[in-house]
Amino acid sequence: MISNSQSLLGLTFSELETALFDAGVLKHHTKALWRAVHRDHVSKFTEIDFSPPLKKWVEAHVGEGKPYFIDSLKQDEEIHSGDGLTRKYLLRLNDGQVIETVLMGYDGRFTACLSSQAGCAMGCVFCATGQMGFVRHLTVGEIVAQVRHVRRMLSQSHPHRRLRNIVLMGMGEPLHNYDAVMKAMDIVSDVRGASIGPSRIAISTVGLVPNILRMAEENRPYRLAVSLHGSTEEERSALVPTSKKWNLESLIAACRSYCETTGKRIFFEWTLIAGKNDSPETAKRLVALLQGLDSHVNIIPLNPTNGFAGAASEAGSEFQKIIRKSGIPCTFRQRRGIDVAAGCGMLKADKLRRG
Ligand code: SAH
Ligand code: SF4
Repeated sequence: MISNSQSLLGLTFSELETALFDAGVLKHHTKALWRAVHRDHVSKFTEIDFSPPLKKWVEAHVGEGKPYFIDSLKQDEEIHSGDGLTRKYLLRLNDGQVIETVLMGYDGRFTACLSSQAGCAMGCVFCATGQMGFVRHLTVGEIVAQVRHVRRMLSQSHPHRRLRNIVLMGMGEPLHNYDAVMKAMDIVSDVRGASIGPSRIAISTVGLVPNILRMAEENRPYRLAVSLHGSTEEERSALVPTSKKWNLESLIAACRSYCETTGKRIFFEWTLIAGKNDSPETAKRLVALLQGLDSHVNIIPLNPTNGFAGAASEAGSEFQKIIRKSGIPCTFRQRRGIDVAAGCGMLKADKLRRG
């Protein structure tokens, strides 16, 4: 890779069109290259029967020492859950950083869980990624490359199935890397390529208030999930340190504004932790907090880390019952991945421990 070399995966369709046009290749050739990269996730272009001008451009412009490169993610490890429904990939980036990407296949629907950063700056006390600290933002190309990786693995194991959903719930805080995440999602939702429906893409945030408002202002077509975990400032701040910066009150106000502007529902994520946020009183306060908001509560059983224990199943059922009784939809996120250390950042943390 030359120092000013640029990722081909980081270009939108119209940027690619311009790059080709500037080199004298007519715009209508763009589609063939875009399809090869994003729909057919090709990495060796020599195998593709491109038109002569496109072939010439690719030979001159893409590869080692050329203006464009294709991010290659080296798979360090692949772990399958016992039931085979969750596959976790530990992927090594060009600079040696390692991230996690997960493919989940429940009820015949395949979902990729992507990372947006190496590490995370937000420091949630129960999260393995948070405990590693922040290393760096991922580039657009590195986020898109995860989708290519997952689609390639899926095409090998289930040749007739498509990747339909994306959640940004892997390592990192997506709204801390706003521009790269939004551009990457624009690229993978392009119907000429990977074609993941925008309403099937969920961006999960710990609550970066300004960027929640920005998502609404910019009318981003993706779904928003907000990791709440606490029903009072005290309860939340003890688990989510960034609540001191963007407090619960301002977060809920931003969520109300988001719903009003976009007309969309918000998914609230609630990692249930014994003795911290699993009591009936907390559930009742949560109901009061979400009053009038178009919301859906998603309870996530804790993958135990850092001395925290998951809530007892009776406490979880009671919690869910209270939320549901109030009329707010409330579901449990399936925990089938637990035997592959599928909690955010846990596989990497495990590998670091093993050395
Ligand atoms: N940074 C974003 C997205 C990545 S974390 C966010 O916090 O929303 C995705 C989800 O995994 C969050 O809801 C987070 O609270 C949850 N999570 C993190 N560590 C976990 C653990 N050990 N067990 C269960 N859920 C966890
Ligand atoms: Fe970061 Fe999300 Fe983990 Fe919190 S839960 S440390 S925001 S990745």
